[in-house]
Amino acid sequence: MPGAFWCIVEDDRLGSPKKVMAEVVGEASRLAGQMGAQAEAVWLTDKAAPEGVKLLGELGAKRIWLLENEAFGAYRGEVWTPVVAELAAKESPQAILAPVTTRQREMMARLAARLGAGLSADSTALALEDGKLVATRPVYAGKLLSRVTWSKAPWLVTLRPNVFRPAEPRADAAAQVERPAVSIPAEGMKLVERREEAATGLPELAEAEIVVSGGRGLKGPENFVILEALAKVIGAAVGASRAAVDAGWRPHRFQIGQTGRTISPKLYMGFGISGAIQHLAGMRTSKVICAVNKDPEAPIFKIADYGIVGDLFEVAPLLTAEFKKLFEK
Ligand SMILES: Cc1cc2nc3c(=O)[nH]c(=O)nc-3n(C[C@H](O)[C@H](O)[C@H](O)COP(=O)(O)OP(=O)(O)OC[C@H]3O[C@@H](n4cnc5c(N)ncnc54)[C@H](O)[C@@H]3O)c2cc1C
Repeated sequence: MPGAFWCIVEDDRLGSPKKVMAEVVGEASRLAGQMGAQAEAVWLTDKAAPEGVKLLGELGAKRIWLLENEAFGAYRGEVWTPVVAELAAKESPQAILAPVTTRQREMMARLAARLGAGLSADSTALALEDGKLVATRPVYAGKLLSRVTWSKAPWLVTLRPNVFRPAEPRADAAAQVERPAVSIPAEGMKLVERREEAATGLPELAEAEIVVSGGRGLKGPENFVILEALAKVIGAAVGASRAAVDAGWRPHRFQIGQTGRTISPKLYMGFGISGAIQHLAGMRTSKVICAVNKDPEAPIFKIADYGIVGDLFEVAPLLTAEFKKLFEK
């Protein structure tokens, strides 16, 4: 049997795989099935919840390489990478897939270097052609799509969230759990400070199905509450343009664009954002784009499916009120 299609698990740090893993495992199973191989999960964690293990099996992972150790609690590239590389050298997977998240982005690049393998980062489509994986990834701020293939295995790929079809969990499916012995690198670093993010009650930007985003047109950090009120009603995450981030109105992790996060929600709503090419690079693959801008010539209207020419300070509260009525019915 050909080597397995590995899925590196991104978890919520409470012991369960994140929602995006349904997409990664779904895609790995689809491709592996075409080659007569199987999808497997590789999970580095300090504590895996039994429901998390069960879910990976139900999503289609046939085997879970469970690396449970307190050293894996906080992500550290120099600890995780050699562990995954050692396991890969022993088990020879055909492909290694991971979602585009902050830590997997780094870990996969490190892993590719360590294994001397190729990596297609931020891929938006995958296919097998003549027995070889071909990945599609946007380049030049989404202006072009490049096709990537590999001269040798393992094929390393990161997958853009909300693009690939998620696997439907099957209650009768279960994974075999392996706990391989690996050498864990001695700690080269000491944890001096730990920051826990306060829960906002809103979904995470990269995974959210709806994103409401604000730009310079919001005029100040205090006005983001207008977008947060809307986001709460429709279950959206709140993002920002670089102008808003550079002005110190939102932390950088909320920035959408070329030098921020790439998102592909079902619905993107931009408020007071002009639509600079670097912003579009991070959201142009959204399924439906709605823009609110008082300037009818704003470039964002060129790619918007729905455009509202108006003052966001009037439009956003009106939308919030209308959505409230809709959801309260
Ligand atoms: C190397 C590089 C990387 C970059 N990376 C990024 C990136 O990752 N992400 C990113 O976003 N940008 C990025 N930029 C910056 C980018 O070029 C733009 O400067 C930025 O996106 C502009 O942000 P904005 O749309 O919020 O502001 P502006 O371009 O100033 O637009 C504000 C808009 O708000 C509208 N407006 C004002 N008041 C109202 C109102 N009351 N109601 C409705 N509309 C209103 C205006 O008509 C205007 O269209 C990058 C630039 C460079 C050079």
